[in-house]
Amino acid sequence: MKATVYNISPYERPFFQAQDISGLTLFYKEERLTKDTVSLADGSEAVVIFTNDEASAEVLEALKNVGVKHVATRTMGMDHIDTEKAKELGIKVANVPDYSPYSVAEHSISLMLALNRKLVIANRKIRENDFRLNGLVGFDMHGKTVGILGAGDIGEVSAKILHGFGCKLLIYDIKENDELKEKYGARYVEIDKLCEQSDIISIHAPLTDDTHHLIDHDKINKMKKGVMIINVARGAICKTEALIEGLKSRKIGYLGMDVYEHEQGLFFEDHSSDIIQDDLFVRLTGFKNVLITAHQAFLTHEALKDNIQSTIRNLKAWADGEASENELE
Ligand code: NAD
Repeated sequence: MKATVYNISPYERPFFQAQDISGLTLFYKEERLTKDTVSLADGSEAVVIFTNDEASAEVLEALKNVGVKHVATRTMGMDHIDTEKAKELGIKVANVPDYSPYSVAEHSISLMLALNRKLVIANRKIRENDFRLNGLVGFDMHGKTVGILGAGDIGEVSAKILHGFGCKLLIYDIKENDELKEKYGARYVEIDKLCEQSDIISIHAPLTDDTHHLIDHDKINKMKKGVMIINVARGAICKTEALIEGLKSRKIGYLGMDVYEHEQGLFFEDHSSDIIQDDLFVRLTGFKNVLITAHQAFLTHEALKDNIQSTIRNLKAWADGEASENELE
């Protein structure tokens, strides 16, 4: 089976090259999938895409017209794919639901600790030969209450790490995890209670209609003054304007983001010679207590290996005329 791999990065190539791809012919393209690059898939039965590729209704229709029958996304999240439209067109979609949750969970903890202990500011001061400790006071993680919004694979690993620090755990999720309750002392609460009682809120839910802008002005108003918010899930779970208001009023004491509501067309690209046109993003970068990484939480050797292995398994199943284990119903 022929497949066009969109948006290939230099760090992914060795992981693709290490795979046994017998039965598959892969065409690697650096271009993102958009309506303007659909023609690159001409002759392929499958496309392999990433989180910043566009699999909108319009693009899916165009893909179908050039003969594409399968979309394999090398991501856990599927919010960049119009899955209803794919179903209507008979295009099969599969993701990689189970690559290292440690990669993303550990990144969320990195953001927490770096913000708390002001590591980026401290490093900048050292490079300016300013060895004073003014402005670098942090807090003990031990004894703090952390609210986990969404305790699936990644939220669960995060909760266990935080339990190791001696944090108290509150969880808001639509389903409960008995192990986290019984062995780790986590308490399941409603979202408002999580907002009111948490010193740190760490977001690990998928982006759905229910979680879109779940963290808005109203929820932020309910939070403790000086709360830390960490979002490594999807940007649009937080309303960006509300985050900025919360930072301006000092309600939010720290914000760590690996994802951004309007990251499409910004993250994963080199804009170093451009003038950034997104005023909300530029405002966020102006706060000293905001730490942003550009969607790199998944970026460990182990996660990339798992991810690309599963992607190839998805393609091989389709090449063999079978359903992929990760295929959407
Ligand atoms: P998962 O499916 O294992 O867990 C998601 C959890 O969220 C589940 O427990 C589910 O019940 C809960 N949930 C679903 N809807 C909810 C709602 N309305 N309210 C509260 N809880 C809800 O997924 P996961 O593997 O833990 O990944 C979580 C998300 O992390 C993904 O959907 C993806 O968007 C994001 N992610 C980000 C990166 C990155 O690099 N930044 C990498 C991988 C995944």
